[in-house]
Amino acid sequence: MKKIVINSPFDMHLHLRDNEMLNLVAPLSSKTFAGAIIMPNLVSPIDTKQAVIEYKQRIINAIPKEDNFQLFMTLFFKPYTKEFLEDVKDEISAIKLYPAGITTNSEGGVESIDTVTLAPTFNAMAELNIPLCVHGETNGFVMDREKEFMSVYEELAIAFPKLKIIMEHITTKDAAILVEKYDNLYATITLHHLLITLDDVAGGMLQPHLFCKPIAKRYEDREALQKLALEANPKVMFGSDSAPHPQHAKENCGCAAGVFTAPIALQVLAQLFDENNKLNNLQKFISSNACDIYNIKPSSKSINLEKTDFTVPEVYTHNNQKVVPMYAAQKISWRIMC
Ligand SMILES: [Zn+2]
Repeated sequence: MKKIVINSPFDMHLHLRDNEMLNLVAPLSSKTFAGAIIMPNLVSPIDTKQAVIEYKQRIINAIPKEDNFQLFMTLFFKPYTKEFLEDVKDEISAIKLYPAGITTNSEGGVESIDTVTLAPTFNAMAELNIPLCVHGETNGFVMDREKEFMSVYEELAIAFPKLKIIMEHITTKDAAILVEKYDNLYATITLHHLLITLDDVAGGMLQPHLFCKPIAKRYEDREALQKLALEANPKVMFGSDSAPHPQHAKENCGCAAGVFTAPIALQVLAQLFDENNKLNNLQKFISSNACDIYNIKPSSKSINLEKTDFTVPEVYTHNNQKVVPMYAAQKISWRIMC
């Protein structure tokens, strides 16, 4: 039977939410990952040092201690001063920029990314070595939003060459090409964008649990993402963008955007890399590249996986919360060994 050990798997883009949802989903990530970059888009975005510290504590409270899970906190981007950033820098690993209104709880985001007015903040971040994570979409036609944002990435990369810019959850061939063009651009790639296209979401019966922002794109886009991931290109790392919503908010007229993948991500990545004879590259994609890009030390946690059929639960429940994972009730071919 085929087995592998993954050392210190990191999820470099994770939504843990708050309150009851946090209590449900945080242990599902901490069980199989060694740490994660925690997104700051709560209903009141995380934009003060106090809010970072308090949110971190709520996450710690939600996770079993023995899971040994490292929390890399982020701030919600605003035009912060250098004094503020100096004060908060030891508490955070990055700052996340959302264009206003582009995804869940991003209403307080940036109206326009003006490299002149925002220069003091970007320069201070570069100087203090704080990476900038970006949700790179315009408010144009849904299939073109990421492609249209490429010029903004280029402008940022050129104007702030010392600023580390992470293109979050890239979904297009255009982004796959751009990430290699500038030394200071990097990217996260999700599990679902490595696996699905728009056909899986809306080509047949509508699949609300696969509806996400950025929306899944074309076959050639998925192929470009797979190539970067499977080759463990040093400019990319795994970030699940696992984004839970209550079952009723997904199976609803007005379906919330987000795919919940945290509990199955590692297993399905093993399956994908195995099917492509690239299992040797999984360690880099899911840990080493992230350590290099973010300058973090891997932890001593390791996860054992084996090639055995596993049926994904239909739903994960805790108190009154219910979340449906990707591949609910379906078979995947790798599982975590206890
Ligand atoms: Zn996200």
